[in-house]
Amino acid sequence: MSHLSKATPLLQLSGLTKQYRADFTALNEVSLSIPHGQVLALIGPSGAGKSTLIRCVNRLVEPSAGSVQLKGQELTQLGSTALRKTRRRLGMIFQEYALVERLSVMENVLSGRLGYVGFWQSWRRRYPATDIERAFALLERVGLAGFENQRADALSGGQRQRVGIARALMQEPDLLLVDEPTASLDPKTSRQIMRLLNEICTERQLSAIINIHDVELAKRYADRIVGLKAGRVVYDGTVENLSAEVLTTIYGEEDWSDTQPTAFASSVVRGQFEQVVA
Ligand code: ADP
Repeated sequence: MSHLSKATPLLQLSGLTKQYRADFTALNEVSLSIPHGQVLALIGPSGAGKSTLIRCVNRLVEPSAGSVQLKGQELTQLGSTALRKTRRRLGMIFQEYALVERLSVMENVLSGRLGYVGFWQSWRRRYPATDIERAFALLERVGLAGFENQRADALSGGQRQRVGIARALMQEPDLLLVDEPTASLDPKTSRQIMRLLNEICTERQLSAIINIHDVELAKRYADRIVGLKAGRVVYDGTVENLSAEVLTTIYGEEDWSDTQPTAFASSVVRGQFEQVVA
């Protein structure tokens, strides 16, 4: 039994397909197997189907065909109550953070527990003491110790994204679904956020699917790269094998020399970023 459960991937997508219209297939028979503890970067040009893929996993978008299995459990057939429960296990992190602006940092983080505490409890904003302790610990982990009473709208973009990460972790997810986490951030903050996501996945043996348009960031902080083009997987492999030719297949003709792995970048071992990255 334990042998069987070890062999079961964390997430298995099989033939996943989305047609928004009968004559347009946004996601075309995508099959991917994602193990525990893997940071997967989903790259590809705008319109390739990256957001659709992420949203088909938690059924913010209903797949037209195919299967999504989380730890062996089929998600595409779940009824609304079971789906709500399962969504707790899928921590979503958004490009525009999706915080409640007028609420405090602490309240935003605790809202990650909304799938767990009862409706009236959450309405009265009463959370168990253990949740509040966990929220403090997560705020410290994401670098926001002491920010708990600040209103979300008083924070910088990078700080907001840290709140978004803490809120997702508050759900105790099995998998993080991360949609363009750095698209609204400057380059330095983008690196810090990607490094934080990578470290957190390593520490917690968490997996993440990160939809990211920045190839250099994907190469630096992901374990695996999946390239989508017109709804199909056209690359699935390591950072090292993501050659200029492959990038041309995914994005078309361009000078890719800036994004080639340097000796420095490819020598960076996951979990050791703090020591080696300035
Ligand atoms: P990406 O995230 O790679 O930019 P998307 O998944 O957002 O790509 O979109 C893939 C394709 O599906 C695009 O052509 C887009 O216009 C289309 N699309 C996305 N969402 C919808 C929708 N709700 N209704 C119709 N078409 C959509």
